[in-house]
Amino acid sequence: MTAASYPLSGGCTCRAVRFEMQSAPLYVHCCHCTWCQRESGAAFALNAMIESDRVRLLEGEVEVVDTPSHSGRGQKIARCPRCRIALWSNYAGAGDSVRFVRVGALDTPDALPPDIHIFTASKQRWVSLPAGANAVSEYYKASEHWPADSLDPRRALQKK
Ligand SMILES: [Zn+2]
Ligand SMILES: [Zn+2]
Repeated sequence: MTAASYPLSGGCTCRAVRFEMQSAPLYVHCCHCTWCQRESGAAFALNAMIESDRVRLLEGEVEVVDTPSHSGRGQKIARCPRCRIALWSNYAGAGDSVRFVRVGALDTPDALPPDIHIFTASKQRWVSLPAGANAVSEYYKASEHWPADSLDPRRALQKK
Protein backbone atom coordinates (compact mmCIF):
# COMPACT_ATOMS: atom_id res chain seq x y z
CA MET A 1 0.00 0.00 0.00
CA THR A 2 2.86 2.38 0.83
CA ALA A 3 6.61 2.34 0.46
CA ALA A 4 7.18 3.24 4.12
CA SER A 5 9.46 0.97 6.15
CA TYR A 6 8.39 -0.22 9.59
CA PRO A 7 8.40 0.43 12.43
CA LEU A 8 7.42 4.07 11.99
CA SER A 9 8.08 6.12 15.10
CA GLY A 10 6.25 9.12 16.40
CA GLY A 11 5.37 11.07 19.49
CA CYS A 12 4.03 14.20 21.10
CA THR A 13 5.54 17.67 20.99
CA CYS A 14 7.18 17.63 24.46
CA ARG A 15 8.62 14.17 23.71
CA ALA A 16 7.31 12.62 26.96
CA VAL A 17 5.37 10.09 24.86
CA ARG A 18 7.04 8.11 22.09
CA PHE A 19 5.43 5.27 20.15
CA GLU A 20 5.87 3.21 17.04
CA MET A 21 3.62 1.61 14.43
CA GLN A 22 5.06 -1.84 13.99
CA SER A 23 3.43 -2.65 10.66
CA ALA A 24 1.62 -0.99 7.79
CA PRO A 25 -1.76 0.54 8.55
CA LEU A 26 -4.94 -1.13 7.39
CA TYR A 27 -6.08 2.03 5.65
CA VAL A 28 -5.41 5.76 5.84
CA HIS A 29 -8.27 8.26 6.06
CA CYS A 30 -8.13 11.90 5.16
CA CYS A 31 -11.29 13.11 6.88
CA HIS A 32 -12.82 16.40 5.84
CA CYS A 33 -15.72 16.33 8.34
CA THR A 34 -16.35 19.45 10.39
CA TRP A 35 -15.61 17.54 13.60
CA CYS A 36 -12.09 16.71 12.41
CA GLN A 37 -11.68 20.30 11.26
CA ARG A 38 -12.52 21.57 14.74
CA GLU A 39 -10.36 19.00 16.54
CA SER A 40 -7.34 19.60 14.33
CA GLY A 41 -7.80 23.32 13.91
CA ALA A 42 -7.13 22.66 10.23
CA ALA A 43 -8.97 21.71 7.06
CA PHE A 44 -8.88 17.92 7.57
CA ALA A 45 -7.46 15.13 9.73
CA LEU A 46 -5.13 12.37 8.55
CA ASN A 47 -5.59 9.11 10.46
CA ALA A 48 -3.88 5.75 9.91
CA MET A 49 -6.07 2.85 11.03
CA ILE A 50 -4.01 0.06 12.57
CA GLU A 51 -4.55 -2.86 14.91
CA SER A 52 -4.10 -1.63 18.49
CA ASP A 53 -1.57 -4.35 19.27
CA ARG A 54 0.67 -3.08 16.46
CA VAL A 55 1.11 0.25 18.22
CA ARG A 56 3.78 0.08 20.89
CA LEU A 57 4.50 2.71 23.51
CA LEU A 58 8.26 3.33 23.69
CA GLU A 59 8.25 6.07 26.33
CA GLY A 60 5.70 7.60 28.67
CA GLU A 61 2.02 6.83 29.05
CA VAL A 62 -1.02 8.28 27.34
CA GLU A 63 -4.02 9.87 28.96
CA VAL A 64 -7.29 8.73 27.38
CA VAL A 65 -9.91 11.45 27.09
CA ASP A 66 -13.56 10.60 26.35
CA THR A 67 -14.62 12.96 23.57
CA PRO A 68 -17.87 13.33 21.63
CA SER A 69 -17.72 12.17 18.00
CA HIS A 70 -19.53 12.75 14.75
CA SER A 71 -21.32 9.39 15.02
CA GLY A 72 -22.68 10.29 18.45
CA ARG A 73 -21.06 7.16 19.87
CA GLY A 74 -17.92 8.85 21.12
CA GLN A 75 -14.20 8.46 20.72
CA LYS A 76 -11.36 8.00 23.16
CA ILE A 77 -8.47 10.29 22.30
CA ALA A 78 -5.07 9.22 23.64
CA ARG A 79 -3.09 12.33 24.56
CA CYS A 80 0.26 13.11 26.13
CA PRO A 81 -0.53 13.88 29.81
CA ARG A 82 1.96 16.78 29.72
CA CYS A 83 1.60 18.63 26.41
CA ARG A 84 -1.88 17.19 25.58
CA ILE A 85 -1.08 16.55 21.97
CA ALA A 86 -3.38 13.89 20.48
CA LEU A 87 -1.61 10.73 19.32
CA TRP A 88 -4.45 8.38 18.36
CA SER A 89 -8.16 7.73 18.82
CA ASN A 90 -10.31 4.71 19.31
CA TYR A 91 -13.79 5.18 17.91
CA ALA A 92 -16.84 3.33 19.22
CA GLY A 93 -17.58 2.06 15.71
CA ALA A 94 -14.29 0.25 15.19
CA GLY A 95 -13.82 -0.59 18.87
CA ASP A 96 -10.71 -0.83 21.01
CA SER A 97 -9.00 -3.17 18.56
CA VAL A 98 -8.28 -0.42 16.02
CA ARG A 99 -6.37 2.78 16.65
CA PHE A 100 -6.63 5.81 14.41
CA VAL A 101 -3.08 7.11 14.63
CA ARG A 102 -2.61 10.82 13.92
CA VAL A 103 -0.32 10.70 10.91
CA GLY A 104 0.97 14.18 11.75
CA ALA A 105 2.36 12.79 15.03
CA LEU A 106 4.77 10.50 13.15
CA ASP A 107 8.41 11.53 12.77
CA THR A 108 7.92 11.11 9.02
CA PRO A 109 4.39 12.41 8.56
CA ASP A 110 4.58 12.22 4.79
CA ALA A 111 5.17 8.44 4.95
CA LEU A 112 1.44 7.67 4.93
CA PRO A 113 -0.52 9.57 2.29
CA PRO A 114 -4.30 9.03 2.37
CA ASP A 115 -5.89 5.95 0.79
CA ILE A 116 -9.28 7.65 0.80
CA HIS A 117 -10.79 11.08 1.36
CA ILE A 118 -13.98 10.88 3.42
CA PHE A 119 -16.73 13.40 4.21
CA THR A 120 -15.74 15.44 1.17
CA ALA A 121 -19.25 16.95 1.32
CA SER A 122 -17.83 19.31 3.98
CA LYS A 123 -14.38 19.71 2.39
CA GLN A 124 -13.10 23.28 2.47
CA ARG A 125 -13.45 24.77 -0.97
CA TRP A 126 -9.78 25.71 -1.33
CA VAL A 127 -8.69 22.09 -0.84
CA SER A 128 -8.26 20.40 -4.24
CA LEU A 129 -7.94 16.62 -4.29
CA PRO A 130 -5.48 15.06 -6.73
CA ALA A 131 -7.04 13.82 -9.96
CA GLY A 132 -8.21 10.24 -9.50
CA ALA A 133 -8.09 10.39 -5.70
CA ASN A 134 -10.30 7.85 -3.94
CA ALA A 135 -13.01 10.00 -2.35
CA VAL A 136 -16.50 9.61 -0.88
CA SER A 137 -18.95 12.30 0.14
CA GLU A 138 -19.49 10.74 3.58
CA TYR A 139 -18.41 7.29 4.76
CA TYR A 140 -17.95 3.98 2.93
CA LYS A 141 -17.92 0.21 3.38
CA ALA A 142 -14.50 -1.29 4.08
CA SER A 143 -15.38 -4.30 1.93
CA GLU A 144 -15.71 -2.03 -1.10
CA HIS A 145 -12.48 -0.08 -0.67
CA TRP A 146 -9.89 -1.81 1.50
CA PRO A 147 -7.16 -3.87 -0.15
CA ALA A 148 -7.46 -7.65 0.26
CA ASP A 149 -4.61 -7.79 2.74
CA SER A 150 -6.35 -5.36 5.09
CA LEU A 151 -9.60 -7.34 4.81
CA ASP A 152 -7.89 -10.66 5.54
CA PRO A 153 -9.88 -12.23 8.40
CA ARG A 154 -6.60 -13.34 9.95
CA ARG A 155 -6.07 -9.73 10.80
CA ALA A 156 -9.07 -10.38 13.05
CA LEU A 157 -10.83 -7.07 13.10
CA GLN A 158 -14.41 -6.07 13.46
CA LYS A 159 -15.54 -4.40 10.28
CA LYS A 160 -18.63 -2.59 9.22
ZN1 LIG B 1 3.98 15.64 25.33
ZN1 LIG C 1 -13.72 13.45 10.53
